Amino acid sequence: MQTYKINEVFQSIQGEGAFTGVPSVFIRIQGCPVGCSWCDTKHTWTVDPELKTSSAAVLAKSEPDECWFEATALDLISLMETEGYKARHIIITGGEPCMYDLTSLTSALLDQGFSVQIETSGTFEVIADPRTWVTVSPKVGMQGGYAVLDQPLNVASEIKHPVAMQKHVDDLKALLARPACNSNALVYLQPISQQTRATELAVAQCIDNNWRLSLQTHKFIGIE
Ligand code: SF4
Repeated sequence: MQTYKINEVFQSIQGEGAFTGVPSVFIRIQGCPVGCSWCDTKHTWTVDPELKTSSAAVLAKSEPDECWFEATALDLISLMETEGYKARHIIITGGEPCMYDLTSLTSALLDQGFSVQIETSGTFEVIADPRTWVTVSPKVGMQGGYAVLDQPLNVASEIKHPVAMQKHVDDLKALLARPACNSNALVYLQPISQQTRATELAVAQCIDNNWRLSLQTHKFIGIE
């Protein structure tokens, strides 16, 4: 069975987008080459073989944040049972989880009755069980030089666009205008880093375009 490199597993509340407020287990996958300057999970960027550790060490947070462990879908389901997690919604995030084939992980979780959401930058094809909720948070023009692809926009259930300036709104409009983009996807604007100007811009643009506002509510209440 396929294994995945896991940086973090924890239970919390989804703070963003369509599932805001839903109790969730977050599975954070190690590895991301996209290079967003404001990234708040830079410790997930590199997969250093020297930093491979155990699931127990990762859960106990007893090692550096850059550490990771290897697990199959069944290992992760068993780990969630052992931890006594009650949430029935699973969020596969990163890092950039779509660097990897997520079919075995998403199918196993869905078959166990969980709802499953992937959070991706849109710069890699989404290879996952088609029942998965796909959240594309498009990262346009980042340092890593990756383009936002048509395929993730096509399978997107929601498009949650980070915004700090008008250029980001223009970037979103260009993505939505692509023929491949799913016209039924929910569209959210999310102010970057809770900046006041970004929030004011996002509110105005949501009203103008009939988009939705996504706030990183977990940061307002100080939870992970
Ligand atoms: S895609 Fe996500 S994990 Fe990767 S650099 Fe950007 S914000 Fe960070």
